[in-house]
Amino acid sequence: MTTTATKNEAAVLDGVPKQLYIGGEWIDPAEGGTLRVEDPATGETIAEVADARPDDAVRALDAAVAAQAEWAAHPPRERGEILRRAFEAMTERADDLALLMTLEMGKALAESKAEVAYASEFLRWFAEEAVRIEGRYSVAPNGAGRLLTMKQPVGPCLLITPWNFPAAMGTRKIGPAVAAGCTMVVKPASQTPLSMLALAQILEEVGLPGGVLNVITSSSSGSVMAPLIHDPRTRKLSFTGSTEVGRKLIEESADQILRVSMELGGNAPFLVFEDADLDAAVEGAMIAKLRNIGEACTAANRFHVAEPVAEAFAAKLAERMRGLKVGRGTEDGVDLGPLIDDDQRGKVQELVQDAVSKGAKVLLGGHPADGPGYFYAPTVLDDVPRTARLLKEEIFGPVAPVTTFTSEEEAVAEANDTVFGLVAYVYTGDVKRAFRVCEALQTGMIGLNQGIVSNPAAPFGGVKYSGFGREGGHEGIEEYLETKYLALNL
Ligand code: NAP
Repeated sequence: MTTTATKNEAAVLDGVPKQLYIGGEWIDPAEGGTLRVEDPATGETIAEVADARPDDAVRALDAAVAAQAEWAAHPPRERGEILRRAFEAMTERADDLALLMTLEMGKALAESKAEVAYASEFLRWFAEEAVRIEGRYSVAPNGAGRLLTMKQPVGPCLLITPWNFPAAMGTRKIGPAVAAGCTMVVKPASQTPLSMLALAQILEEVGLPGGVLNVITSSSSGSVMAPLIHDPRTRKLSFTGSTEVGRKLIEESADQILRVSMELGGNAPFLVFEDADLDAAVEGAMIAKLRNIGEACTAANRFHVAEPVAEAFAAKLAERMRGLKVGRGTEDGVDLGPLIDDDQRGKVQELVQDAVSKGAKVLLGGHPADGPGYFYAPTVLDDVPRTARLLKEEIFGPVAPVTTFTSEEEAVAEANDTVFGLVAYVYTGDVKRAFRVCEALQTGMIGLNQGIVSNPAAPFGGVKYSGFGREGGHEGIEEYLETKYLALNL
């Protein structure tokens, strides 16, 4: 463990189980071995967790398969109450969970607290959805027969989550799976396994039966998950992560014709029209760009601003971003923590240099920030040329490129000129334009005059290379249910 951890940090880290959670027990991998977890603010190792091998993963699936029938038959109300108790436990322990998250992922404590609240809300939402799983009864068009549909759990699921929202990306899948009556094997990102282990500990404590949730942590995700994806007992794969890995997993899932949900990468356009409230747009931009240090699939990746207001918008945004404090997320007053690792920081720097070499003007930052960790200075680039790579690629850092448009048609065309389609942000004071533009945008979600869309009660998801399936809202539980139709001859 790190020598620089405060007493409180050490206590929080010590309180998290480090083993695999399989069949309701915390166990070591058959071959032993550990995976190091690093604090991205210092580069120091803060914990070591179990490093699963394929055989351990198969044991986890065995446990999920063994628990499936009984869990599916469990009263929905009880499934919901377990989730509700987990929501309450997360809320009670929010401070510790937030600190844990900041230590392994880097974001400022206030942001981690916001994620813990957001993550726990999925448990509350799906606690309520558990008792609203409904079928249908209708008269056949010819009047002779009756058509009955029932909803049943899909079966054992594989849930794979990324490092950027270590808790929320988990509860967004675990909540509906538990509510629907599915059992599961969860694999968190190797860089941030601690939040998921803490979540499993909570679900165990509040009475989730052994085998319903199984968590494996591993340094070799591909080889550990492959046998499970190709196992005929698995019925579903839900993945959140990069488009590159998602595509590979879709191909692998074809083997067993798995139900698949994919929450993949983004390249969100942020459109500011001439008639927008500019100050509100800047405030929205701060959230859309800087939430999670820019490491969010929903991050505004590029700002398309109407020519007459572009200069003022870029200047105001630079002014606001200049006031941000960069540092270790645990420190008071810090707004922006480090990026997740050196590779990610290198990629951000490469994209900025590419834009600058093609003529972009640096209004703020444009370089890594000081520190032993992977910090990057808040950056605003103006006059970014169309050829700059960061208009096409996901930046995943605190970098705001500003470019201009001269007409609504051009704005929409630019916004849609991407393979991704997760979210877009639109700022305008004209209601008719708002609807015209929102209808024309090729994304799964839109923030209209607001810089954040995430809400457990809403269907989150994308189109095109950003994936398919929805998480949250009424739609979220459907991903874990099959529809069975019964033909009745009366
Ligand atoms: P990633 O590299 O694709 O990894 C995501 C998860 O997949 C991790 O748990 C990773 O494990 C695992 N993984 C990697 N290769 C695998 C394989 N061959 N088989 C099975 N599992 C495998 O993505 P990331 O860098 O963690 O996350 C950032 C990406 O996630 C961004 O593109 C972001 O836009 C996207 N994201 C999307 C959403 C959304 O809702 N649309 C939300 C959040 C993030 P390891 O950690 O061991 O590599």
